[in-house]
Formats: sequence, structure tokens, C-alpha cells
Amino acid sequence: MMYLCEPAMSNRSEQYAELILPLAVAGTFTYSIPEHLSNKIKVGFRVIVAFGKGKKQYTAVVAGLKKNSGGLEEVKPIIDCLDDEVLIGRHSLDFWNWMSDYYMCHIGEVMSAALPALLNLSSETLIHLSKTPDIQSDKLSDESRMILATLEREKELQLSKLSKSLAEHFSMKRLKELVDLGYIYTREEVHEKYSEKQLEWLSVGDQLSGKHEFEEIVLNLKRSPKQLQSLMRFIEMTGWDGENAEVEFLKKNVFLKESTVTAASVKSLLVKGLLKSTNMTVSRLDHHDDDGILPLLPLSNEQVLAKNEIVKSYEQKDVVLLQGVTSSGKTEIYAHLIEEVIRRGEQVLYLLPEIALTSQLIRRLKKYFGLKIGLYHSRMSQKERTEVWKRTAGSRADSFDIVLGARSSVFLPFKKLGLIVVDEEHDRSYKQQDPAPRYLARDAAIVLGGMHKAKVLLGSATPSLDSYYNFQEKKFGGVALEKRFGGHLMPEMKVVDLIQARRKRQMRGAFSNELIEEMSKTLDRGEQVILFQNRRGYAPLLLCDQCGHSPLCKNCDLTLTHHKKRNVLLCHLCSYQIPFQQTCSECGIGHLADMGSGTERIEEELMEFLPNTKCARFDLDSTRRKHSFQRIMDDFENGDIDVLIGTQMVTKGLDFENVGLVGIMNADLLLKYPDFRSHERAFQMLTQVAGRAGRKQKRGKVLIQVYEAEHHVIQQVLLGDYKGFLAAEMEERRAFIYPPYYRMIEVRMKHRDRHLLYQGAKSLGLVLKEVFGSALLGPEFPHVERVKNRYSMHFILRFDKGVNVTAKKKKLREILDNFISMDKFKNLYFQFDVDPY
Ligand code: ADP
Ligand code: ZN
Repeated sequence: MMYLCEPAMSNRSEQYAELILPLAVAGTFTYSIPEHLSNKIKVGFRVIVAFGKGKKQYTAVVAGLKKNSGGLEEVKPIIDCLDDEVLIGRHSLDFWNWMSDYYMCHIGEVMSAALPALLNLSSETLIHLSKTPDIQSDKLSDESRMILATLEREKELQLSKLSKSLAEHFSMKRLKELVDLGYIYTREEVHEKYSEKQLEWLSVGDQLSGKHEFEEIVLNLKRSPKQLQSLMRFIEMTGWDGENAEVEFLKKNVFLKESTVTAASVKSLLVKGLLKSTNMTVSRLDHHDDDGILPLLPLSNEQVLAKNEIVKSYEQKDVVLLQGVTSSGKTEIYAHLIEEVIRRGEQVLYLLPEIALTSQLIRRLKKYFGLKIGLYHSRMSQKERTEVWKRTAGSRADSFDIVLGARSSVFLPFKKLGLIVVDEEHDRSYKQQDPAPRYLARDAAIVLGGMHKAKVLLGSATPSLDSYYNFQEKKFGGVALEKRFGGHLMPEMKVVDLIQARRKRQMRGAFSNELIEEMSKTLDRGEQVILFQNRRGYAPLLLCDQCGHSPLCKNCDLTLTHHKKRNVLLCHLCSYQIPFQQTCSECGIGHLADMGSGTERIEEELMEFLPNTKCARFDLDSTRRKHSFQRIMDDFENGDIDVLIGTQMVTKGLDFENVGLVGIMNADLLLKYPDFRSHERAFQMLTQVAGRAGRKQKRGKVLIQVYEAEHHVIQQVLLGDYKGFLAAEMEERRAFIYPPYYRMIEVRMKHRDRHLLYQGAKSLGLVLKEVFGSALLGPEFPHVERVKNRYSMHFILRFDKGVNVTAKKKKLREILDNFISMDKFKNLYFQFDVDPY
């Protein structure tokens, strides 16, 4: 798709607009611009239009303006214009287009992912009564009468509210009937729900500040002691000196919290002009760290060298990969680079994989950059997200210079980016899996950087093979930091061979004796321990001791996980759950035994082996509530927790000074994951979690419990030999035709009917094979065939890096469009995943 022309400044000859709608439909849509909006609408503005058979209204984004409708006969008009300044800039529109092309999705899907929900509202249906029924003669069902009775009370009601208030008595069918019979009519309306947050402030009124003698005022108030009291309290609290000099403001709600002040007396004082009220806009974002602005720490010699090398690389390259071992001081280098960029008046995007896990880093950067820094991630409210959006776009006084965000912050409407930092660039959570666009924020950031002519810095202790390849190919610059900051030693790594330990009966539950001993020594020294087990719940599998039956999910081909605290069996894919019962439901005789262990079981065993230890779990279950996350981290930091047991959440970002030991409960789980990246991930995760040990003066220790102790990945982790690992892994990838040497596109098909799906996949496979030949793999069923009652099959296309992939994607799209136009297969559901991760 192309953008047509820039808006003409005054004389508007373009009467049509090309619009992006937030829907999974192809292309853009032409609408006419009505007279009254003709000078208002510009490219990048949001407008309201009706779309489709119903009258439903959507927010749309103007992608272009044009003089004619391009031969279309019936063109609907734009209903309203929402903006008076550009909210979606040209860079953003270009970026959306790139994303839709590259990741093979509709531009409307990109729009939905990009805009905060409050900037992307669709209409609600409003229902009105047009005539009151005649109780005697009109033959209406009870349900219909209830609808009408409700509407008689309210003049106008939202459909959602009506159905909620009638609950089980609500019937859509009856509602339609009533429309057809002329009792009611419906109307669509979009409510802009976002408004800036206003607070009411009080100051002394005109009647007080000058004209009258203060004593006279006091005399006049004698008969209203409450008012007098309130006024005196106000003067006391603001410290007003009786002159008219500086106006002192006090928040009304703060003033009203005073026990001596009543709302009525404040109202009277306002009426009398003794107090004055003013509304002022305030931020919704939390700024409690404003005051602590600190200068940046001076860099060490090594850091200075690395920084200079990065800057020098930027003379020739747009992207630099900074490989620095954990705790080598990368963050401090970022901070120095950031400061230079914002001093030039340009913006910085700082991407983090999971922002909730990095409160320590946020605190650190806020200390340096204070109010100039904004956060953007999915745990924020929609209103907060909208405020950040607006403060990134603009020329406002409170605009952000730096945004620290999770992957979706690549969509923010930056005005002029100078630098993008992608911290922990190897991390998998940069990839959006569902819904489309299935983008990788790291790669998208590089493209975004290109559009702004900004530089990109990728940082990691364990770079992805993709980035390392680009460095080797000299597409990216590369800089390394090989030692920890301050000369601290890397932790001592040791393997515990679980086969040996079992044979020698040196195991208790999931713990080797050696791990328990090390733990108790560490705790005795007053140091803390982190245990890593990448499974939540109590046990991932239950097995009947008589018939061998395992309880499975009703909707997915997956065993249910036992959650002992909640006493349920739970599916980790679809959340289906049933109460736990010890007796096997299949044979009715045997008992279900817990097989394997999750974090809950590790915790239980630990309490048995090392009683009196204060331990806490850090996983999806224990951090669901709003502040639980922060609470656990704070407790650990303050030493209120001795042992932290967690899933991959403990591998990221945490920077605690007093961790003497990290225990990895079962490394085999990581090595055996069915994916070509499993070794890469295992290395990364093990190194990252090990990096949590001994970050300061004392040298930390890491114990890796593993059955396959001789595995080359384990051996290389022990040596800290990431270079050696990369070299070997690269060779494997090349030999087995995988990224980074080849590009991959995955085509997934889904349907409830396994047979139909299979037939469809086979027949599509024939067509694809003819066109793509040996580049095509599949169709195959994935590891878990059925999820949420839908079966899936997939194809993989692999192309050499030299191949023109754009042309291949176009061809692929064509074939699929043709294929689903066949009646038999029109209900098959397709997904594309470009660069699956
Ligand atoms: P990384 O990001 O590579 O894991 P950090 O930037 O977090 O490493 O640095 C590790 C530790 O060293 C942190 O506690 C940090 O405060 C400290 N540090 C890093 N650089 C400096 C410096 N130049 N001066 C003082 N302390 C530093
Ligand atoms: Zn399920």
C-alpha cells in the first residue's frame, strides 16, 4: 500500500480519504470527507466512520488524502474527526506498513496492536424506546416486556448495560423482534473516554485578597463558625501572609481531608469569593522518585573504552552488539550514551523484555533522568498508557525524552529518536506470539531506528545467534566486555550428576544432598539462595499407580498440572481446571501419584529438609495480584526471604547483592525442549540465572543439577565458553538448514475437525510443493496437536538469506487466498508466523 499525498495546507481539493480500520481485513478504505470537516482532516488524524452491514462505528486512521474516489460508486462519509494535532506521525504510518508487509498481517491488525485501547474505541449500541406497548392488546413475551420496562425507566441505554441489568432474562432475539416491530430503535455512538486528569485547587479568593479589611471579614463570618474555622485553617495550611503577593494553592481533596473542614463550608466560602477554585491538569503517572536526580557514575577505564568503541562503530554501522558478561556494567554505559542523545534534543527508546521484572533498573535510571523518563508496558492502566502516548508524540512541555518499555513501545509516536537500546536482546519475550502482528520487537526496533536515522544498541551477556551472525557478517558492529565491573569474579559453577546421586542414594526428593549442604552453608553465612525450576505448580504429571492413567485436559492434548495449594488439576494452555481427587477416575481403584516437580513441590520439600528457612515462590501463581510482584522482590532485597524459588522469572534482571548460591533444580528440562533453539535458550537461561550469584564483593556459587551431565551445552556453560558454544551451534544450524543461515516462515492451519484439517493440509501441501519445492517442510502436526479444541498443522518454508523473500511472501499469500476460496476449505483458519521464535 502507498501513501497518496501530503495534505494541502489550506485550499482542500481532496475530498476523499484513505483510511486504516482496526480490523483483520485487507487494505485501506476510501471514505468521503464531508464539507464541515474538509479543512480539519489531515494524514495521521483519527476519524470516526461506520463500517460493514451493521451500523457499527470505528476509529480509523487517515493514511492518505485524494481527489477522487478511484471509481468507487458508493462511498460513505467520515462521521467525525477526533484529533486536532497529528497523533500518528509519518514514521508511525511507514512503520505500520512495514510491519504489515514483513509479518504478513493486515495493517488494521497492526493498528490495533499499536494504539492504546482508549485511542482506538469502537461504537457502542444505544437503545431507545419509540413507543410504549399496550399491555392489553400487544402480544409480547415476558422477556420483551422486561426489555421495554427497563427502557421506559431510562431514556437511552447501552446494549451492554441492558443485557447486564436483565442478566439471564436478556434475549438478543427478542431485542431484534422489538426493533422489527417498531417498539425500539438503536443508534451507534463512540464515546471518547480519555480525558486529561484534572484536580481542583483552592487559593484565596478576590474578596479576601485586597478590598476588605481582614477583621471585617472575620466579623461577617461570626455567625457561620464552621466557615470561619475552615477559612482560618486554610490560611494556616497555605501560610498565606495576608498580603496579596504569592498565590498559594492547596489541593481541594487534601484540604477536605482535614477533620475540621466540611464540604459545605468550603462551598459557601467559594460562593462568597473568599476562596477561589482552579482546575489544573495533573499527570496520572507515578512520579515519586522525582527529586533524587543524581549525576551519572564515572565510567571505569574498561567502560570508557567500550563506550568509545561503540561511538566509533556508529560512524559506519547503525547497529552495534554489546556483548558484556553479567554485571560488567552495561547499564551504566547505556546511561552515558543516553545522556548524550537527549542533550542533542533527541529521544531514546530503551527496550526491556519484561518490564515488571526490572524495577531495580527503572529506579536506577529514574535517579539519573527523573521526569524525562516514561514507562510503557501492559501492566499499566489504559489511561496511563494513553498519557504516555501523548507525551511521547508531542511538542508539549512535559514530553518524554526517554521511554523505558516492553515490546509494544516500538509503536509509540516518537518525534525524533536518536538511540534505541535493546537490553537483553536475546530474550524471547520480545516476540509477540498471539495475536497478529507476530513481530519480534528487537528486529522491529532496528527498522524503526532506520526510519528515524537513529542508532541501535543491542546488549546481552548471551547474544542471540541471529545478532551474532549479523555481527560476523559485519552488518552490525560489535563490542565486548569480558570482566565483571570492579574486578568481581564470575561465580564458581559446578555440576551435580543426578544419575550418580540417585545411584548412590544421595537424593531427597528433587534435591541432591550436595545442594542441601551448600544451601545450609550459604544460609549459615547469612547469605541468600535462588532456586530455579522452570515449572510452576506442584507436579506436571499425575500417574495412576494401578492402571497408569494420566488425567488430561478436556480441551487440549496435554496432561493436567497438579496445583496442591489450590487443590486442583489445571491446564497450563487453556486454564481448564477440575478439583483434585486422589482416586483414579479411570479405574476407580488406584491412586494418582505426583510425577516430577514444579516450584510448589520444591518449596514443600525445602520446608521439610531445611525447616525454619524463610522461603518464597516467584512464579506466575504467586505474583498474580497487583503488588505481589514488588512485595516479593522487596522482601528478598530486605533479607526477609532467605530462599527464592522461581521459574524463568528469577533469571531476568534481578540484581541482589547478597545472593551466595544459585541452584538449578533440573537443567535437562531446558535441554530437551522440542525446538531448534533449545540449546541456545538453555545456555542463555543458565548463564543468566547463574549471573544472579555473587554480584558484588563475594564470589558466588552455582550448582547445576542435571542427568545428562556430559551434554556439551552443560560443559560449555561450566567453562563460561559462550564463544565456543556459538561456533559449534552455528555449524549445527548451517548443517540442518536453520536460522540464522536461513529465513523461516511458518504457516499454521487450524480447525476443530482433525480429518478436515488433515485433508486440507494435504491438498494445500501439493500446491505449495509445486511452487516452493524443497524449501517446503510439512505439513506436520505440532508437538501438542490440539489446543482449546482446535487441531493445528503447520508448514515451514525455509529460504536462503540471498532469496527475495518479499516475492515469496506475495506468492504464498496468493496461493492461500486461492485455497480458501474453495468451498470445502473456506473455514480453515490460517496464521502466518514470519521468523517464528
Ligand atoms: P550489567 O548491566 O552488565 O549486568 P550493571 O550495569 O548492572 O551490569 O553493573 C553491575 C554493578 O556494577 C551494578 O551494581 C552497578 O551499580 C555497578 N557499576 C557499574 N558501572 C559502574 C561505575 N562506572 N561506577 C560504579 N559502579 C558501577
Ligand atoms: Zn487445556
